[in-house]
Amino acid sequence: MQSSYFTAEHQQFRKSVREFLAAEVLPFADEWERRRCIPKELWGKMGRAGLLGLHHSKAVGGAEKDFFHSVVLLEELGRTGYAGFRVAVGVHSYMATSYLAQAGSKELKQKYLAAAVSGEKVSALAITEPEAGSDLNRLRTTAVLDGDSYVINGKKKFVANGTTADFIVLAVKTTPAASAARKGASGVSMLIVDTETAGLSAKRLETLGWHCSDTSELEFNDVRVPASNIIGTANQGFIYIMQCMQLERLAAGLLALGGVDRCLELTWRYMAERPLFDSTLSKLQSVRHRMAELVTEAEATRHLAYHAAWLHERGSLPIAECSMVKLKATELANRAAHECMQFHGAHGYQEASPIARIYRDVQAATIAGGASEVMRDIIAQITLDEAGWRRRNF
Ligand SMILES: Cc1cc2nc3c(=O)[nH]c(=O)nc-3n(C[C@H](O)[C@H](O)[C@H](O)COP(=O)(O)OP(=O)(O)OC[C@H]3O[C@@H](n4cnc5c(N)ncnc54)[C@H](O)[C@@H]3O)c2cc1C
Repeated sequence: MQSSYFTAEHQQFRKSVREFLAAEVLPFADEWERRRCIPKELWGKMGRAGLLGLHHSKAVGGAEKDFFHSVVLLEELGRTGYAGFRVAVGVHSYMATSYLAQAGSKELKQKYLAAAVSGEKVSALAITEPEAGSDLNRLRTTAVLDGDSYVINGKKKFVANGTTADFIVLAVKTTPAASAARKGASGVSMLIVDTETAGLSAKRLETLGWHCSDTSELEFNDVRVPASNIIGTANQGFIYIMQCMQLERLAAGLLALGGVDRCLELTWRYMAERPLFDSTLSKLQSVRHRMAELVTEAEATRHLAYHAAWLHERGSLPIAECSMVKLKATELANRAAHECMQFHGAHGYQEASPIARIYRDVQAATIAGGASEVMRDIIAQITLDEAGWRRRNF
């Protein structure tokens, strides 16, 4: 559908992104799924095509394009139908590197962000730990200052790009050792860790889906990094996480919406070609109505996402809107995958069918980056308390 947010330049950009993905991704993505990661060369190709730094500054080689270019890219990554691929790129460009862009020193930006934008270095974001997911009060990985280095010990889990990354944006506790076990998200800092550093090991996990996103666990045993690798100010990490999470959630929603488009498109094609009774599956009113509902929900959610993107373009990333986009888009993706799998019948229920991959992939997005329940908690807090009611003029 048409939208007033997009200009002719955005449409042209969409066309070029589609061409790039059709040539460089779609023919190879099944193989990457089997190998559980995307090849290093692809990052270089994406960097040279200008796709890894659309919203980053020209000082680090980015394009400084308005955010609707990123909206186009995220939607098109989603429309490939390969959630593992879209997540790997999304984490690199809109999640891990956001911390550097937001608060990194000039030196860190030149060394890591510029290399991420060009595709020379791949990034990962490691916040979650075996015992700290939704509850970041439980972070236990420590970084203790020793001379001009931090010494890191601990474990991270479920890290996308975990074994392929060249550097990790890492959440650590930098409070003194004696108080590091103290409850509370205070004393969290964000550090850059080169993955070549001694004492760091990475192991890929066997996840149910998102196969080529290389979800891994990381272990840090006396890993020493320069103190200058700290992003921004020590002990302010929780604030950076809260700020960067909003872009992460908006990006996750847009990626999921692209995935919904792919899911509906391939299902509609299947239905139109599937002979049934005197006609085709696509002519049965009950399934047409269910598809129409899904298309309508996708359109409504998309416009919520565009509104949040528009707010971002004007300089703010409101927590409520970003949480709503993530919640609605990822939950819709689940529902759409479930219904579309049913419409495919047994033909869909085959290991190699595209709808089976989508079905397997969708649930990760209602967990990663903040589970749906956490999104509902946040939305309730902001919109339903007394101040929220007044502010929103209901
Ligand atoms: C495929 C995949 C990739 C990921 N990639 C990354 C990554 O790159 N980097 C990274 O740091 N992390 C990553 N994660 C981790 C992700 O962010 C966490 O899984 C998420 O924050 C939830 O934490 P948890 O899995 O420990 O679940 P828990 O915190 O143990 O929660 C379990 C469940 O409890 C429910 N729940 C939680 N809180 C509430 C609440 N307040 N009210 C009601 N119910 C609640 C939810 O249903 C939730 O799913 C990834 C996860 C997945 C699945």
